[in-house]
Amino acid sequence: MMEQFDVIIVGGGPAGLECARELSKSSLRVLLLEKREGFGDKLCAGGLTAKAMEILPLPDHIIEQKILRTSIHSRRRDAGTVTPEAKLFTVNRPVLGAYQRSLLEGTQVEVRTDSQVIEIRENTVVLKNGKQYEFRYLVGADGYSSMVRRHLGLKVDKKLIGFQYNIPVEHEYPALEISMDAHRFSVWYAWIFPHGDTIAVGCCCDPRRVDPQKIKVGFHDWLNDRKIDPGDARLESYPIAYDYRGVKFGNTFLVGEAAGLASGLTGEGIYQSLVSGQEVARLIIDPMHKTDKLDQVLKYNRILERVMAVFRWAGPLRGALQEFLVILMNKEWLRKKINAQFTSES
Ligand SMILES: Cc1cc2nc3c(=O)[nH]c(=O)nc-3n(C[C@H](O)[C@H](O)[C@H](O)COP(=O)(O)OP(=O)(O)OC[C@H]3O[C@@H](n4cnc5c(N)ncnc54)[C@H](O)[C@@H]3O)c2cc1C
Repeated sequence: MMEQFDVIIVGGGPAGLECARELSKSSLRVLLLEKREGFGDKLCAGGLTAKAMEILPLPDHIIEQKILRTSIHSRRRDAGTVTPEAKLFTVNRPVLGAYQRSLLEGTQVEVRTDSQVIEIRENTVVLKNGKQYEFRYLVGADGYSSMVRRHLGLKVDKKLIGFQYNIPVEHEYPALEISMDAHRFSVWYAWIFPHGDTIAVGCCCDPRRVDPQKIKVGFHDWLNDRKIDPGDARLESYPIAYDYRGVKFGNTFLVGEAAGLASGLTGEGIYQSLVSGQEVARLIIDPMHKTDKLDQVLKYNRILERVMAVFRWAGPLRGALQEFLVILMNKEWLRKKINAQFTSES
């Protein structure tokens, strides 16, 4: 007879593992299926805000670097902030994945790796290894190329392409850096996320708006100017979905990037994944649950999309707007406002 579960979660990224952690507090029978052997092997700059840490508090040994200094640059100007306490953190994604997985030890959640879902039939998932499981609720936490989302007939029209090098460094890099340059990165920017003995250096863009090959050339020109030599590091690339259409579709739910919950401006997605994973679990446990935290995430994403729209609308004046933004970034009131976006004060 086919094994039956109350909830089957497809995918063990930040969204799926957080959803499982929240469901582990109920008496529901839960199965999490992950296609890979381990967790978290995904291209990412590994940046987390204090807001994300409020959802999933991380012990110090999981954090690679606590960021106290942030610098933001336009072509001609620089601004910076130093906070007494870290509001930004970096993590290694496989370490984060292993930690999230460890939180399920001793709970009633069953976790199966090497378990790729290849087909969804009515209330049944079919795995590549031929196994089949029955569910009452299905959660698609399977990231950008979500098959649960495809099963629901939802396309991903709004996406970014992210490029990134992970480069070894001899000394801890002191600040997280954001570089805007309309000629090179259009509406988006290049980033340097410090990780102790490496730095994640990358940028992203929406291929519907600009040619990613052009952005790639601009990115390498910028690396040259910044005297950053990737050495033997490989340039990796992966899409980021920001095409949100909802989380609940009958007895099927979408969370994280499967739901298109990343930001179309910054590419940030871990925080949104954690919140949606938690909120969907609460909704399954209690259908009357008010998803206020998810509403806040949607509002946050909308604000960032509006900023992106203003930069797009600025056209040839985009560079001037970026210069103006950096001037404003030297004002204490704006720095406070932006820092507040990293915590639940916002
Ligand atoms: C270059 C780059 C840099 C980024 N930097 C940041 C950053 O600094 N901070 C930030 O917050 N976000 C960042 N992001 C975005 C972030 O990585 C994602 O938004 C986040 O990982 C989404 O989490 P998720 O759990 O929804 O999906 P994922 O992390 O993609 O997890 C999905 C999981 O599902 C599994 N899976 C997929 N299909 C199946 C299947 N059929 N059966 C079973 N399992 C399946 C996958 O193996 C994977 O483990 C970055 C993205 C890119 C591309």
